Amino acid sequence: MTPFIPPKGLPDGDVGRADYLGAANMPQDVPTHPVRILVAEDNESHQHLLLLNIVDQKANAEVRVVSTGADLLKCVREDSYDCVVLDFNLPDFRADELVQSAAEHLTATPVVIVSANTDQSVVIDSFRSGVVDFVPKDEAMVGDALWRSIEHAIQENRRLTNERREQDRRERYLAKLAETDQLTGLYNRRYFERCIDEGRWDSDRRKTMSVVMLDIDHFKQINDTHGHHAGDDTLCQTADFILTQIDGSDIAIRWGGEEFVIIRPSASLVDSMIWAERLRRLIEHRGIHWKDQAINITVSTGIHECHADELNRGVIDRADDAMYLAKERGRNQVCTSLMADMCKLAREVGGDRSLEPRGRFERFIELASPLLGPTQRDHTTDHAEQVATMAREIARILKLPEDLQRQIHTAGLLHDIGKCMIPEAVLAKRGRLTLMERAIVSKHAEYGAEIAEELGFDSQVSCFIREHHTRYDAMESDADHAEHTAHIGSRVLCATDALVTMMTCRTYQSPKSLVEALRELRQEKNRQFDPDVVNAAHFIESLFSLAA
Ligand code: GH3
Ligand code: MG
Ligand code: MG
Ligand code: MG
Repeated sequence: MTPFIPPKGLPDGDVGRADYLGAANMPQDVPTHPVRILVAEDNESHQHLLLLNIVDQKANAEVRVVSTGADLLKCVREDSYDCVVLDFNLPDFRADELVQSAAEHLTATPVVIVSANTDQSVVIDSFRSGVVDFVPKDEAMVGDALWRSIEHAIQENRRLTNERREQDRRERYLAKLAETDQLTGLYNRRYFERCIDEGRWDSDRRKTMSVVMLDIDHFKQINDTHGHHAGDDTLCQTADFILTQIDGSDIAIRWGGEEFVIIRPSASLVDSMIWAERLRRLIEHRGIHWKDQAINITVSTGIHECHADELNRGVIDRADDAMYLAKERGRNQVCTSLMADMCKLAREVGGDRSLEPRGRFERFIELASPLLGPTQRDHTTDHAEQVATMAREIARILKLPEDLQRQIHTAGLLHDIGKCMIPEAVLAKRGRLTLMERAIVSKHAEYGAEIAEELGFDSQVSCFIREHHTRYDAMESDADHAEHTAHIGSRVLCATDALVTMMTCRTYQSPKSLVEALRELRQEKNRQFDPDVVNAAHFIESLFSLAA
């Protein structure tokens, strides 16, 4: 049989990658300290003779002598000994009872019983109690019988201890191996399932955490184009990218084929969105190196936020839903389960052709509302109504055709509907947003346009929504009438949205007066805002009622 040779390497313990290479403590060698022996004997002259005999055989033995079972129990609780020598009949305990009472403290200590009574029953009781040896008392007090018994007991005990340790180590190693993905060295699903079974995250049940699912895009093509070894190496390098980004409490798992799950016990949804976006960019930017070739890869990522006590297979499915949305939206992106919920809802409501688009929109808001936070709700309802009313007024002043005015009004009602997919925590954040947070919020225009399409609004309306944050100076100049029409709605919404927002109390700003807001609009004329729209805004009577 091949001997069991565990690999040497990293220390034991949980790190993101399953540390199956980590050889646990090697078996300890025989201790070098003097042999420590505890003797329990009530007869004083026997005590004396036993002590003398032991020291006679082993000069540097440390021998402690007690007279009662109670004292022996106290000693073994407080200290450790290499061997205990026990008189069978003590005044307060019989040796077999004593061994049982002290079992918990004597697991690693052999016991040698001495007794003047060599009846078979005494010998048998002694062995039944789990002791190692029995020496008749007259033999124990003279000659080397006792010492030979002690020495043998100690050696046998060490051998058994080492064997047990080796067995434990082997079992731990095999257990780790069973929970490790052999290709990437990450954990596998079995490890996750054990964590759940053992309630790994139960100590803080209401703690917010997040689960990230990441899938390599078009991985099959890598196998097909470069071969399976390149595919395998791509999986390993992706695992390494993940490992460079995780922190101490995160757990990285190869969930299946080219799918990875990262459990992030200390990260909120927004933390993980930013984290996953960085990882996505890193992987896209660095790519895979395979035999002097650079292979471009991208990943699609889904995130679900939950509380520790909700962590089970179900939350992985939620992250999976989000990952599938990322695939559906064109891959190489990060999506959340909130987005997946909203898309699903828009699709369901959009499929109800008994309602007009406007009716579907109202139904969508009604059904989405309970899932939204207060800021998400306000942005998609009250704020949207104000923008719609004012945008239509500006469209009228600009003498745009009646149809276009109506479309602008509708786009105004829906312009921020994509914010139902933006985490409440970012929308409601006090103070300045970071660059990454701004990037998250800016996605709402695109998401809103997609929801409008699902609900059955025409492409003009969804186009106005998609572009409602595009700067005037960043838009292509209107080469013809059709392009002007395509852009004008977004330009009206862009300036109106800014005006209404400036005059509204927000967590990050106090409201500006109408005069101040119009001044700011003028300052951005020809840059952020269309000059015609800025001029028209100065004529709106309804502004005054809004300002009041
Ligand atoms: P998508 O962007 O939709 O995720 O497309 P995809 O090609 O990445 O996904 P698909 O599920 O179609 O293909 C996954 C492939 O991954 C198929 C399977 O042969 C391959 N695969 C799974 N496990 C391994 C592995 O351990 N090594 C290699 N080389 N390939 C693997
Ligand atoms: Mg894939
Ligand atoms: Mg797949
Ligand atoms: Mg907006």
